[in-house]
Amino acid sequence: MPELPEVETTCRGIEPHILGTSVKAVTIRQAQLRWLIPEHLPRELPGLTLLAVERRSKYILLRFKTGVLIIHLGMSGSLRVLLGAQSVQKHDHFDISFLNGATLRLTDPRRFGAVLWQDGVQEHKLLVNLGPEPLTDAFNHETFISAAANRKVAVKQFIMDNKVVVGVGNIYAAEALFAAAIHPQTPVNKISKHKFIKLVAAIKYILGVAIERGGTTLKDFVGGDGKPGYFAQELQVYGRKGQSCNLCQKQLQEIRLGQRSTVFCASCQRLPRGVKVKS
Ligand SMILES: [Zn+2]
Repeated sequence: MPELPEVETTCRGIEPHILGTSVKAVTIRQAQLRWLIPEHLPRELPGLTLLAVERRSKYILLRFKTGVLIIHLGMSGSLRVLLGAQSVQKHDHFDISFLNGATLRLTDPRRFGAVLWQDGVQEHKLLVNLGPEPLTDAFNHETFISAAANRKVAVKQFIMDNKVVVGVGNIYAAEALFAAAIHPQTPVNKISKHKFIKLVAAIKYILGVAIERGGTTLKDFVGGDGKPGYFAQELQVYGRKGQSCNLCQKQLQEIRLGQRSTVFCASCQRLPRGVKVKS
Protein backbone atom coordinates (compact mmCIF):
# COMPACT_ATOMS: atom_id res chain seq x y z
CA MET A 1 0.00 0.00 0.00
CA PRO A 2 1.47 3.40 -0.87
CA GLU A 3 2.37 5.12 2.40
CA LEU A 4 2.95 8.81 3.09
CA PRO A 5 6.56 8.81 1.81
CA GLU A 6 5.51 7.23 -1.48
CA VAL A 7 2.69 9.76 -1.85
CA GLU A 8 5.06 12.65 -1.12
CA THR A 9 7.56 11.17 -3.60
CA THR A 10 4.78 10.94 -6.18
CA CYS A 11 3.88 14.62 -5.66
CA ARG A 12 7.51 15.68 -6.05
CA GLY A 13 7.89 13.45 -9.09
CA ILE A 14 4.87 14.72 -11.02
CA GLU A 15 4.99 18.43 -10.08
CA PRO A 16 7.81 19.65 -12.36
CA HIS A 17 6.08 18.19 -15.42
CA ILE A 18 2.60 19.60 -14.96
CA LEU A 19 2.65 22.63 -12.61
CA GLY A 20 1.59 25.87 -14.29
CA THR A 21 0.24 24.22 -17.42
CA SER A 22 -3.38 24.04 -18.51
CA VAL A 23 -5.57 20.98 -18.81
CA LYS A 24 -6.35 19.91 -22.36
CA ALA A 25 -8.61 16.92 -21.69
CA VAL A 26 -9.74 14.46 -19.03
CA THR A 27 -10.37 10.80 -19.82
CA ILE A 28 -12.28 8.49 -17.48
CA ARG A 29 -11.99 4.86 -18.62
CA GLN A 30 -13.25 3.25 -15.41
CA ALA A 31 -15.27 5.51 -13.09
CA GLN A 32 -15.86 2.88 -10.40
CA LEU A 33 -12.96 3.25 -8.00
CA ARG A 34 -13.56 3.36 -4.23
CA TRP A 35 -16.11 6.04 -5.09
CA LEU A 36 -17.35 7.06 -8.53
CA ILE A 37 -15.10 9.53 -10.33
CA PRO A 38 -17.28 12.67 -10.79
CA GLU A 39 -18.59 12.56 -14.35
CA HIS A 40 -18.39 16.35 -14.79
CA LEU A 41 -14.55 16.40 -14.64
CA PRO A 42 -14.07 16.14 -18.44
CA ARG A 43 -16.14 19.37 -18.69
CA GLU A 44 -14.83 21.09 -15.52
CA LEU A 45 -11.06 20.84 -15.95
CA PRO A 46 -10.14 21.67 -19.57
CA GLY A 47 -8.76 25.21 -19.84
CA LEU A 48 -7.88 25.43 -16.14
CA THR A 49 -4.27 25.96 -15.08
CA LEU A 50 -2.75 23.70 -12.42
CA LEU A 51 -1.81 26.15 -9.64
CA ALA A 52 -0.31 23.75 -7.07
CA VAL A 53 0.48 20.11 -6.36
CA GLU A 54 0.06 19.49 -2.63
CA ARG A 55 -0.21 16.58 -0.23
CA ARG A 56 -2.44 16.26 2.83
CA SER A 57 -2.01 12.94 4.65
CA LYS A 58 -2.07 10.41 1.81
CA TYR A 59 -4.25 12.57 -0.46
CA ILE A 60 -2.69 14.24 -3.49
CA LEU A 61 -4.28 17.65 -4.09
CA LEU A 62 -4.19 19.29 -7.51
CA ARG A 63 -5.27 22.86 -6.98
CA PHE A 64 -7.11 24.77 -9.73
CA LYS A 65 -8.84 28.17 -9.69
CA THR A 66 -12.33 26.71 -9.23
CA GLY A 67 -11.53 23.82 -6.91
CA VAL A 68 -9.23 20.97 -5.97
CA LEU A 69 -8.88 17.54 -7.54
CA ILE A 70 -8.26 15.01 -4.76
CA ILE A 71 -6.50 11.77 -5.65
CA HIS A 72 -5.91 8.83 -3.30
CA LEU A 73 -3.83 5.84 -4.38
CA GLY A 74 -5.74 3.33 -2.22
CA MET A 75 -4.12 -0.12 -1.92
CA SER A 76 -2.44 -0.44 -5.28
CA GLY A 77 -2.67 2.84 -7.16
CA SER A 78 0.15 4.69 -8.85
CA LEU A 79 0.24 8.02 -10.58
CA ARG A 80 2.77 8.89 -13.23
CA VAL A 81 3.48 11.46 -15.87
CA LEU A 82 3.80 10.24 -19.44
CA LEU A 83 5.53 12.38 -22.01
CA GLY A 84 4.40 11.66 -25.55
CA ALA A 85 1.97 9.00 -26.76
CA GLN A 86 1.74 5.81 -24.66
CA SER A 87 -0.47 2.76 -25.10
CA VAL A 88 -3.25 2.30 -22.58
CA GLN A 89 -2.98 -0.73 -20.28
CA LYS A 90 -5.77 -2.61 -18.56
CA HIS A 91 -5.73 -0.76 -15.22
CA ASP A 92 -5.14 2.77 -16.55
CA HIS A 93 -8.44 4.25 -15.32
CA PHE A 94 -7.98 8.01 -15.43
CA ASP A 95 -5.91 10.49 -17.47
CA ILE A 96 -5.46 14.25 -17.39
CA SER A 97 -3.65 15.48 -20.47
CA PHE A 98 -2.04 18.91 -20.40
CA LEU A 99 -1.39 21.46 -23.14
CA ASN A 100 2.39 20.97 -22.77
CA GLY A 101 2.03 17.35 -23.95
CA ALA A 102 2.33 15.67 -20.53
CA THR A 103 -0.31 13.18 -19.39
CA LEU A 104 -0.99 12.39 -15.74
CA ARG A 105 -2.22 8.79 -15.54
CA LEU A 106 -3.76 6.90 -12.61
CA THR A 107 -3.24 3.13 -12.69
CA ASP A 108 -5.00 1.11 -10.01
CA PRO A 109 -5.46 -2.68 -10.38
CA ARG A 110 -7.48 -3.14 -7.18
CA ARG A 111 -9.51 0.07 -7.58
CA PHE A 112 -9.48 1.15 -3.91
CA GLY A 113 -8.10 4.51 -4.96
CA ALA A 114 -10.16 7.65 -5.46
CA VAL A 115 -10.51 10.71 -7.68
CA LEU A 116 -12.76 13.36 -6.15
CA TRP A 117 -13.53 17.03 -6.71
CA GLN A 118 -13.69 19.70 -4.03
CA ASP A 119 -15.55 22.77 -5.24
CA GLY A 120 -14.20 26.13 -4.10
CA VAL A 121 -12.20 26.51 -0.90
CA GLN A 122 -14.39 24.59 1.57
CA GLU A 123 -12.27 21.59 2.67
CA HIS A 124 -13.56 18.21 1.54
CA LYS A 125 -15.14 16.12 4.30
CA LEU A 126 -12.36 13.53 3.95
CA LEU A 127 -9.78 16.18 4.91
CA VAL A 128 -11.57 18.13 7.65
CA ASN A 129 -10.85 15.89 10.64
CA LEU A 130 -7.30 14.87 9.85
CA GLY A 131 -4.63 15.31 12.51
CA PRO A 132 -1.38 17.25 12.02
CA GLU A 133 1.18 16.45 9.35
CA PRO A 134 4.02 14.50 10.99
CA LEU A 135 6.81 16.59 9.45
CA THR A 136 5.41 19.96 10.52
CA ASP A 137 5.81 21.80 13.84
CA ALA A 138 2.10 21.24 14.48
CA PHE A 139 3.07 17.66 15.36
CA ASN A 140 5.11 17.78 18.59
CA HIS A 141 5.26 15.98 21.94
CA GLU A 142 2.85 18.44 23.57
CA THR A 143 0.02 17.86 21.08
CA PHE A 144 0.82 14.16 21.27
CA ILE A 145 0.64 14.04 25.07
CA SER A 146 -2.64 15.95 25.21
CA ALA A 147 -4.16 13.58 22.64
CA ALA A 148 -2.99 10.63 24.76
CA ALA A 149 -4.36 11.86 28.08
CA ASN A 150 -6.69 9.37 29.76
CA ARG A 151 -6.48 6.94 26.84
CA LYS A 152 -5.51 3.30 27.28
CA VAL A 153 -5.21 2.40 23.60
CA ALA A 154 -2.00 0.61 22.57
CA VAL A 155 0.60 3.10 21.38
CA LYS A 156 0.97 1.45 17.99
CA GLN A 157 -2.73 1.88 17.22
CA PHE A 158 -2.61 5.40 18.65
CA ILE A 159 0.14 6.62 16.31
CA MET A 160 -1.62 4.98 13.35
CA ASP A 161 -4.82 6.97 14.11
CA ASN A 162 -5.23 9.72 11.48
CA LYS A 163 -6.89 12.00 14.02
CA VAL A 164 -3.73 11.92 16.18
CA VAL A 165 -1.19 12.30 13.39
CA VAL A 166 -1.58 11.50 9.70
CA GLY A 167 0.42 9.17 7.54
CA VAL A 168 2.07 6.84 10.07
CA GLY A 169 1.32 3.50 8.43
CA ASN A 170 2.10 0.03 9.71
CA ILE A 171 5.72 -0.03 8.54
CA TYR A 172 6.64 3.36 9.97
CA ALA A 173 4.77 2.77 13.24
CA ALA A 174 6.73 -0.44 13.87
CA GLU A 175 10.05 1.19 12.96
CA ALA A 176 9.44 4.34 15.04
CA LEU A 177 8.50 2.31 18.12
CA PHE A 178 11.69 0.30 17.78
CA ALA A 179 13.77 3.48 17.38
CA ALA A 180 12.17 4.98 20.50
CA ALA A 181 12.46 1.68 22.44
CA ILE A 182 8.73 1.53 23.21
CA HIS A 183 6.75 -1.73 23.40
CA PRO A 184 3.96 -1.54 20.76
CA GLN A 185 1.28 -2.58 23.28
CA THR A 186 2.09 0.10 25.86
CA PRO A 187 -1.13 1.95 26.86
CA VAL A 188 -0.56 5.56 25.78
CA ASN A 189 -1.42 7.00 29.20
CA LYS A 190 1.55 5.04 30.64
CA ILE A 191 4.15 6.59 28.33
CA SER A 192 6.51 9.13 29.92
CA LYS A 193 7.11 12.60 28.50
CA HIS A 194 10.71 11.58 27.79
CA LYS A 195 9.51 8.62 25.69
CA PHE A 196 6.97 10.78 23.84
CA ILE A 197 9.74 13.20 22.88
CA LYS A 198 11.78 10.26 21.56
CA LEU A 199 8.78 8.86 19.70
CA VAL A 200 7.96 12.16 17.98
CA ALA A 201 11.59 12.52 16.93
CA ALA A 202 11.64 8.92 15.65
CA ILE A 203 8.47 9.38 13.57
CA LYS A 204 9.81 12.59 12.02
CA TYR A 205 13.22 11.05 11.34
CA ILE A 206 11.97 7.79 9.83
CA LEU A 207 9.36 9.42 7.60
CA GLY A 208 11.87 12.12 6.61
CA VAL A 209 14.49 9.58 5.60
CA ALA A 210 11.91 7.52 3.72
CA ILE A 211 10.78 10.60 1.78
CA GLU A 212 14.35 11.54 0.93
CA ARG A 213 14.87 8.03 -0.45
CA GLY A 214 11.60 7.70 -2.29
CA GLY A 215 9.63 5.49 0.07
CA THR A 216 9.74 1.80 0.84
CA THR A 217 9.99 -0.84 -1.81
CA LEU A 218 6.56 -2.34 -2.22
CA LYS A 219 5.74 -4.64 -5.04
CA ASP A 220 3.03 -2.50 -6.58
CA PHE A 221 4.47 0.91 -5.91
CA VAL A 222 6.39 2.88 -8.50
CA GLY A 223 7.64 6.41 -7.80
CA GLY A 224 6.33 9.41 -9.71
CA ASP A 225 9.48 9.24 -11.79
CA GLY A 226 8.92 5.53 -12.57
CA LYS A 227 11.71 4.30 -10.28
CA PRO A 228 10.96 2.06 -7.29
CA GLY A 229 11.90 3.29 -3.83
CA TYR A 230 14.68 1.58 -1.88
CA PHE A 231 14.17 1.96 1.86
CA ALA A 232 13.42 -1.73 2.55
CA GLN A 233 17.00 -2.80 3.20
CA GLU A 234 17.14 -0.47 6.22
CA LEU A 235 14.03 -1.71 8.01
CA GLN A 236 14.91 -2.81 11.57
CA VAL A 237 11.78 -4.74 12.56
CA TYR A 238 9.07 -4.59 9.87
CA GLY A 239 8.98 -7.87 7.94
CA ARG A 240 11.79 -9.35 10.09
CA LYS A 241 9.85 -11.76 12.35
CA GLY A 242 12.13 -14.52 13.68
CA GLN A 243 15.31 -12.73 12.60
CA SER A 244 17.72 -11.34 15.16
CA CYS A 245 17.53 -7.80 16.53
CA ASN A 246 20.22 -5.55 15.07
CA LEU A 247 20.87 -4.07 18.53
CA CYS A 248 20.79 -7.03 20.95
CA GLN A 249 20.77 -10.09 18.63
CA LYS A 250 17.69 -11.59 20.35
CA GLN A 251 14.96 -13.02 18.12
CA LEU A 252 12.29 -10.51 16.96
CA GLN A 253 8.70 -11.39 17.86
CA GLU A 254 5.41 -10.90 16.07
CA ILE A 255 2.06 -10.01 17.63
CA ARG A 256 -1.29 -8.94 16.16
CA LEU A 257 -2.53 -5.49 17.12
CA GLY A 258 -5.74 -4.08 15.63
CA GLN A 259 -5.69 -6.79 12.90
CA ARG A 260 -2.17 -5.76 11.88
CA SER A 261 1.04 -7.74 12.21
CA THR A 262 3.58 -6.05 14.46
CA VAL A 263 7.19 -7.14 14.80
CA PHE A 264 9.25 -5.89 17.74
CA CYS A 265 12.14 -6.77 20.06
CA ALA A 266 10.86 -7.81 23.50
CA SER A 267 14.28 -7.09 24.94
CA CYS A 268 14.86 -3.58 23.51
CA GLN A 269 11.20 -2.48 23.63
CA ARG A 270 10.05 -3.11 27.20
CA LEU A 271 6.80 -2.15 28.86
CA PRO A 272 7.05 0.52 31.58
CA ARG A 273 7.58 -0.93 35.07
CA GLY A 274 4.37 -2.33 36.54
CA VAL A 275 2.44 -2.29 33.24
CA LYS A 276 1.03 -5.61 32.06
CA VAL A 277 -0.73 -6.37 28.77
CA LYS A 278 -2.37 -9.47 27.36
CA SER A 279 0.08 -11.27 25.12
ZN1 LIG B 1 16.79 -5.96 20.65
